[in-house]
Amino acid sequence: QLKLAGGMSRLGTESAFVVLARAGKLAAEGRDIINLGIGQPDFRTPEHIVEAGIKALQDGHHGYTPANGLPKLREAVAADLNRRHGVEVNPDHVVVQPGGKPTMFFACLMFGEPGAEIMYPNPGFPIYESVIKYSGATPVPIALKEENGFAFSAEEVLGQITDKTRLIIINSPANPTGGVTPREEIDKLVAGLMEHPQVALMSDEIYSNMLYGGREHVSLLQYPEIRDRLIMLDGWSKTYAMTGWRLGYAVWPESLVDHVTRLCINDHSCVNAATQFAGIAALEGPQDEVTRMVAEFDRRRQVIVEGLNALPGVRCADCAGAFYAFPNIEGTGLTAMEAQNRFLDEAGVATVAGTSFGAFGEGYLRFSYANSTENIQEALRRIRDLL
Ligand code: PLP
Repeated sequence: QLKLAGGMSRLGTESAFVVLARAGKLAAEGRDIINLGIGQPDFRTPEHIVEAGIKALQDGHHGYTPANGLPKLREAVAADLNRRHGVEVNPDHVVVQPGGKPTMFFACLMFGEPGAEIMYPNPGFPIYESVIKYSGATPVPIALKEENGFAFSAEEVLGQITDKTRLIIINSPANPTGGVTPREEIDKLVAGLMEHPQVALMSDEIYSNMLYGGREHVSLLQYPEIRDRLIMLDGWSKTYAMTGWRLGYAVWPESLVDHVTRLCINDHSCVNAATQFAGIAALEGPQDEVTRMVAEFDRRRQVIVEGLNALPGVRCADCAGAFYAFPNIEGTGLTAMEAQNRFLDEAGVATVAGTSFGAFGEGYLRFSYANSTENIQEALRRIRDLL
């Protein structure tokens, strides 16, 4: 019998991948499956980005790069943040990672240990709770509620701070709810944090380009008073439809840059070079493909929100960002897991149970609308028949 370290039994997973595998298996058996389970754009990476990756390989960029990322890429990130959020960022504070996820893991390894507390959104991206637990720290949920449009309440977050709190994780626009936290709440959170200078903040802004209905993204980088303890995570996966390339970054406080770079050196050395060149092309090239994808997501969002609200026992809030709808399904009499399983097995529609995103997700189901309008409409038809 092998004896594993205790952390392994505390490490969770991302159920969307489990649903994806199950949907794939059913499809391989000949079932017609519509996948509204997975959180990735259904678009190809724009061609000029693909070409830049190929060219980098042909030009001989086959070796290691600096562990924190190519200087030109980090400069392109700083310029992009200036263009989008109107902020000044020192490229030396940007640390490039293989995707958005490593930043979460490294931040939790840096701050988490037994006796420490880390706050995280619930329902929220499941990896937060998983890696907090792995670190040995106590996960303290920030409950996100439908009646607040799934935005966090600054008062509740501040009210949960103790002398053990080391890190607070926030995410807007949010997975799995599509919720967007308004500027007033963020103002209040930052003002309240001034009384807790020992608490770090990780703002996951991976969906910062995906807001609808005229809403504007509020980046935590716009608050200079917390720059010395802010980790701002963003990346290429969602904006440029590059989930499989594995490219992300975070802006770190100056005092943590060397620590996170050491974690990179110990873990992966660097992101593969060709992907980094593709990342430069993404940021410096034309952005019209991004605009086109976001406009398409917005059209589908309207179809799915209206369609879900028309189902018996289902109520869906207006999801303002990302590409997820998170309807309340309590009126159907099904639990989140029952709905997930029956929608997949009986209607051939893959979704993810709200409980996969934390205990506060009971009664909800996540629908990703990163799928064609026809497929969304067909999925809604099948669910209506089943219900
Ligand atoms: N943050 C959130 C909220 C996400 O939903 C995801 C992916 O689903 C990520 C980060 C991670 O993205 P990446 O694929 O770049 O690691």
